[in-house]
Amino acid sequence: MILLDGKKIAKDIKGEIAIKVTQLKATGGKTPHLAAILVGDDGASETYVSAKVKACEKVGFKSTLIRLKDNVSEQELVKEIHKVNNTLDIDGLIVQLPLPNHIDEMRITEAILPSKDVDGFHPTNIGRMILNLPTYLPATPAGILELLKRYNVETSGKNCVVIGRSHIVGFPISILMGRNNNPGNCTVTLTHSRTQNLNEITKTADILIVALGKAEFVTSEMVKEGVCIVDVGITRIESDKTKSGWKLLGDVAFDSVKDRCSFITPVPGGVGPMTIAMLLKNTLMSAKRAVY
Ligand code: NAD
Repeated sequence: MILLDGKKIAKDIKGEIAIKVTQLKATGGKTPHLAAILVGDDGASETYVSAKVKACEKVGFKSTLIRLKDNVSEQELVKEIHKVNNTLDIDGLIVQLPLPNHIDEMRITEAILPSKDVDGFHPTNIGRMILNLPTYLPATPAGILELLKRYNVETSGKNCVVIGRSHIVGFPISILMGRNNNPGNCTVTLTHSRTQNLNEITKTADILIVALGKAEFVTSEMVKEGVCIVDVGITRIESDKTKSGWKLLGDVAFDSVKDRCSFITPVPGGVGPMTIAMLLKNTLMSAKRAVY
């Protein structure tokens, strides 16, 4: 079994990006600039955003964090987005999700200029992704592709089963794995909460991508020998064995399946670190005007 080490690969990618930023600046190019909007003071969102801002600093990007109160109106938030859309120096804009219930997330996503949508969630960029046109790929699915690529996991002609159909992970990765690309060219089955006989379907998978948000859901009886497993899930549970008092679990019962796998991502340290690396990659692409 080979561990798909997202922590190491993400570090490599950030190193590569830092070199490119230095070269860009040395040749008179602009410093990539990412803006993030954080609404409210949710602890998890705060952690994610500050990790993104820190990652920007490390690779030599500029970053701007815009904090808004959780009672901000949808209209005020859209106004703030328009301001960033019109700020030439800013290359990429992310609005940290989830947003408070009174705000329509899709309306907010659509307010971001596609050329600055480095999360790759705008319908224009999703459409471009489906058509295999240059675009910003959503960061988590892009991170999965990059991991498979850097570990030379063969995907062409393989059966890929995806569990979960969220707009940010399951649905886009199912499209990407079926595109005529490398990685890609899989025969893809997208499964979800209404799927029947899930265990029979997962057993057909050469590559199993799991993103449903239920800790240790996938066990050894659900997979075949030699499967490559990508575990996207992150569930925080209390633990008396760690200093912090909690630990992270994936959607896959790692110890139960690991001996049947050809490749597997750990949690933490698998897909998670790749997500931020891909966000930086998209922002660099935007600064270089590589897509739009
Ligand atoms: P979500 O919570 O929006 O949706 C869950 C999906 O799972 C739904 O499509 C649902 O149909 C499906 N599902 C639920 N129960 C099922 C069942 N019994 N059988 C089959 N399918 C079932 O999904 P999400 O936002 O993609 O998040 C999934 C997990 O991935 C969460 O743990 C989240 O924290 C994690 N996540 C991690 C990263 C990362 O960077 N590593 C990024 C995004 C999400």
